[in-house]
Parts: sequence; C-alpha cells; structure tokens
Amino acid sequence: MITDIEIARQAKKRPISEIAERLGLGAHDVLPYGHDKAKISHDAVARVAAQPAGRLILVTAISPTPAGEGKTTTTVGLGDGLNRIGKRATICIREASLGPNFGMKGGAAGGGRAQIVPMEDMNLHFTGDFHAITSAHNLLAAMIDNHMYWGNRLRIDSRRITWRRVMDMNDRALRDVAIGLGGVANGFTRQTGFDITVASEVMAILCLAQDLDDLEQRLGRIVIGYDLDRRPVTAADLDAHGAMTVLLKDALQPNLVQTLENNPALVHGGPFANIAHGCNSVMATRTALATSDYVVTEAGFGADLGAEKFFDIKCRLAGLSPAAVVLVATIRALKMNGGVAKADLAQEDPGAVTRGCANLGRHIENLRSFNLPVVVALNHFDGDRDSELSVVSDFCAKHGIKMVVARHWAQGGEGAADLAREVVSLAEGGAARFAPLYPDSAPLWEKIETICGRIYRAARVEAAPGVLAQLQAWEAAGHGHMPVCIAKTQYSFSTDPTRFGAPDGHIVPVREVRLNAGAGFIVAICGEIMTMPGLPRSPAAEQIGLDHHGQVKGLF
Ligand code: ADP
Ligand code: MG
Repeated sequence: MITDIEIARQAKKRPISEIAERLGLGAHDVLPYGHDKAKISHDAVARVAAQPAGRLILVTAISPTPAGEGKTTTTVGLGDGLNRIGKRATICIREASLGPNFGMKGGAAGGGRAQIVPMEDMNLHFTGDFHAITSAHNLLAAMIDNHMYWGNRLRIDSRRITWRRVMDMNDRALRDVAIGLGGVANGFTRQTGFDITVASEVMAILCLAQDLDDLEQRLGRIVIGYDLDRRPVTAADLDAHGAMTVLLKDALQPNLVQTLENNPALVHGGPFANIAHGCNSVMATRTALATSDYVVTEAGFGADLGAEKFFDIKCRLAGLSPAAVVLVATIRALKMNGGVAKADLAQEDPGAVTRGCANLGRHIENLRSFNLPVVVALNHFDGDRDSELSVVSDFCAKHGIKMVVARHWAQGGEGAADLAREVVSLAEGGAARFAPLYPDSAPLWEKIETICGRIYRAARVEAAPGVLAQLQAWEAAGHGHMPVCIAKTQYSFSTDPTRFGAPDGHIVPVREVRLNAGAGFIVAICGEIMTMPGLPRSPAAEQIGLDHHGQVKGLF
C-alpha cells in the first residue's frame, strides 16, 4: 500500500503565487517561503478584511479512538470536494507540533488522497512559527528570573510564579526542574518546569489575536504569577510584551499552502485542545472567509471538547458565525463506543455499531443545541461492511439527519463530492442561527456547570478546595466575562477515559482553575492533563532518517 508520504511526494504542486491568485492575492500580498509555501502579509490581511465573508463550516467528530477518526483528512477532503462542485473553498487547519512526530502519532496534514502539501515541511519546521512562539514565551521567562536577580522591584513571589518555560519536543525529563543552581551569579534557585510549545499561552494568544496591536495588548495582559501581596504580575509590568511582539510579528501572518488537488489551505497556529481552545488562528480563518465562498475548518478532539470550544471560545471572541457542522464518524470509533476492545475493532459487528450510535446521537443533540444544521460524514475505511454502514444510516435517518459516506481518503475530492453537496444545501438553506452555550455575563462557576451539565450530561460538578474562591477573585478583578476552557479526557463525555458511549449522571471534579488573561479564557482542569508529553518506549525517531536521495524516511 502506498503511504501518505509517498502520495504527498507525487503531488503535482502549483507555484504558491498561483494558489494566492485563487484568493485574489497578488505577488506583493504574499511572502514566499520557498516555492510552495508563503505567508500572507499583514497589509493583505488588513485589506481583504473589508470583503464580504464566505460561509464557515466546522468539521468535528464523535468520541475518538486513540488513532484519530479523520477530522483533518475530512476537512481537507471536503475542501477539495467543494472545489470540485464549483465552490471556491479554502481549508483552515492547525500547524503540527514536532513532539508527536518523533513519538507515535502520524502527521497532521490529513491522509491518503486528502492531504495538504508540502506535508513534510508542514510537519517539521514549516515557516518557523512554533520556534518564534517558543522564543517569545521563553523571553518572558528569562525576563522574570532576570527581574528577580536585579533586585525584584515588583516583589515577585518566587514561590508563586506560574509562567513556565516551553519547548517543542516530547521530553518528560523537563516536566519538573530546579533552576538557578550553582551559586549567587546564577540567580535565585527555584522549582519550575517545561511544557510543550503548543500548550503555551502565547500559542493561544497568537491564535486569538485580531492583529499586531491586539497581539501586543494580549501579551501584556499575561499573568506570570503573583507578588508578595498576592497581586497578579503581568508581562506588561515587566515591559516584556513589546519584545515578544517583535519576535512574533512574522509568525502572526497566516501560512498559505495547497492540497494535493491544488486548492488553497491556510495552516496557522496550533493550540492544545485540552488546556487551550484547539483550533487554527482567527487571522487565518478571517482571511480565508474574506477570500473564499466556503471555509472548512477543524476543531481538535471530539465534538464535546473541540466543537464546544470552537463555538464558545473562538467564535464568541472573534464574532464568527458558522453555517453548518460536519460530524465525522468511523465504524471503528462507533464499535469502540459500543464496548469493543481495541484489538477486535476489525471484526464485523453491527451490534456494537448499534450500541456505539448512542455516542453519535449524543453529539448530534449537542451540536444542534448551538442552533446549527449538522450532517454526519461517515469516513469510509477499507474494511467497513455494508451491514455496519446501514446501521449508521438507519440511525441517522431516525434522528432526521443525513449520513453521507465519504471516500476522500481513497478518492480525493471526488470521494467527498456528495458530502460537499449536502454541506452546501445545509449552509445555503439558511437554517443556522448560531448561539453560544452561555452568555458572557454568567458567573464563571455557572459557565462550568452549564458545559458539564448540557454537553457532558454530568449530574454534578465538584470543586476542589480553593477553586470557588479563586473564580470569585477573578470575577472581582474584572475577568468574569471570559469563557471557560475545560481540560478533560477526549475519550469520554465523563472524566473517566474508559466510559465510552453516552454516559450520564457522572460527577465532574474540577481540580484546578487557571487564568489565561492574555488569551482571554479561564481553564478548568478536570482530571490528569499532560502539558509535557513523553516519548514511548520505541519512539518513531528511531526509524527516521535520510535516504540516499536526501529524502526523509520513516516519517508517516
Ligand atoms: P484527526 O484529525 O481526527 O486526528 P486525521 O485526519 O489526522 O484524524 O487521521 C488520523 C489518521 O487516520 C491519519 O494517519 C489518516 O491518514 C488516517 N485516516 C483517516 N481517514 C482514513 C480512512 N478513511 N482510511 C484509512 N486511513 C484513514
Ligand atoms: Mg486533526
């Protein structure tokens, strides 16, 4: 079987200037990075902003298996499918983190005949955005310790510094570290740690910033910790936000690449989907909307997490209004939700698919509660049986929703043409009346309860000691209007990753809350959340290298 990377290498790419022309962008509007990548300049982004916006389509999924159910692949395939049926469609997805490439997950550029190219570049250093984010984040960290070294005018409490350091690598040895060892000249000793770059608040800020001014203001609002009177200390207090903005000015410009079928794709930003909102940048989405009829975008994890955050954080903060939602389901994920063990997912089992449809039904209900039309895209895998597919289409029919079998992975855009036609009919049918789940004005705890009750169907939310007081303190400090980003497992509606299907009546424990004042949301942590992953026993890196032609081998 031909691998993703082999398909990608056979792509007949068009020069990036031609792809830009499709968006109405001229040579002076794009900053080429080689022949097949470009950034769209700040001037061009600002200029097109006044143009009428196209329709925004969200691709999300049912509760996934660890392998992923093909949200990115479907996003790319649907974009190509829309172009095939004559719509000017642009794809907006996230950039890839280096960490997982050398660990065990596949690439982040789609798969099969539905991919974004150059996929190797996109999965490796790309246009350097993540390095810029890493540098900006760590500049602030260095300025904190330097400030304390030179007399600590702000009276920062070294025990209450919340700003850690970041690196774009899976490296568990850096989770907890002691810094400033080695004597007086090296500063004050304290305990801190590293997170992976995609978990940085700077990443979330880059993805929510509207322009350079907004970026700088948001960076200035970052709370790095507390002083000896427990008052928050910000990046602006340290005068760090100007220099951070300088490091990020190029990174804030959206990256333009293309699909295997030469359709435009903006790949920009990549925040974590647990402790952050998990979707590509607002700048890229807005630019795509201003230059296309349709924009297809993806939100991380299943719909309970990804779609909810896309709606309640990104759409709310950026004033975006989606026209329709595509809910990706696979037979294997339905079986897993129907209680089948991972090792047995390949066996024909329509009964398990029937049981797993409870999970699908729950996601459909939830998405409809945002007043948006929904279509189920059944991402077709080679081994899928007709007996299993008909269970899903019967289930959908019973719930008054269309299921379309999508074969873009095997066939490219042609395989998603039916899906594209259904999406157009939903989006142009004008049924969307998008409304977020809760108003800005609701108290923070009530926002958490609303998400846990209405989306996760929990009976109750329990707060660890100190959580309620912390939320009230933030409300008193003027942060009460912010949306809430819940960090919990993606494998279950509950906080127990082994409870598949459609559990209800569970208890959601909120262990800890964090303020992302710059990004503009509160994070509620429910369960174990890893912000610095480790590598597996046999990391993919052991198989990666260059072949005799200087081409990368062993990656994907
Ligand atoms: P997600 O975005 O939901 O995490 P991806 O689109 O990245 O999922 O897909 C995860 C993996 O599954 C990729 O390696 C992709 O190539 C593969 N994949 C997706 N759809 C199919 C399919 N229909 N048949 C075979 N493999 C697929
Ligand atoms: Mg994805």
